[in-house]
Amino acid sequence: MTRSALDPNTEHTLILIKPDAYRRGLVGEILARCERKGYVISALSVVEATPDQLEAHYAEHVAKHFYADLARYMMSSPLVAAVITGEQVVAGVRCLTGGTQPTQADPGTIRGDYGRDWGSGTVENVIHASDSPASAEREIAIWFPELVR
Ligand code: GDP
Ligand code: MG
Repeated sequence: MTRSALDPNTEHTLILIKPDAYRRGLVGEILARCERKGYVISALSVVEATPDQLEAHYAEHVAKHFYADLARYMMSSPLVAAVITGEQVVAGVRCLTGGTQPTQADPGTIRGDYGRDWGSGTVENVIHASDSPASAEREIAIWFPELVR
């Protein structure tokens, strides 16, 4: 999809609907929760993540013990990348997302309702959402370089 650059006067965040959610048919449900909250989908793409994209996206985690598992998970099938737009959307979508560990994430959040912790230590928490406006800008450039001027 080709489209013009994002409106610089509005806040944007980057979500990844992770491979487990893609396989389980949760794409529509997760996008619907964002839309029902009043946010707008500004860009949407089904992609197979590359090792380079993931190392850039998860730069803060590359050296951690779980990175190999995380990378395997994120490349286990296609995922959906989306730019979501709206006032205070970064904080708002993090609230919708819930805590990192699915077992502890609050019910009613996306991770609390759909995420799974597996006994092997694998975390399948169905969604990524940018944690700050600066992270959002950096991450949008990784997944939607055509949108960045
Ligand atoms: P987030 O901002 O809530 O997504 O959490 P973090 O930035 O701490 O971690 C990024 C992602 O790495 C998480 O969403 C998980 O998919 C994964 N992750 C974090 N901690 C672990 C862990 O201990 N084990 C595994 N396998 N994955 C993890
Ligand atoms: Mg994080």
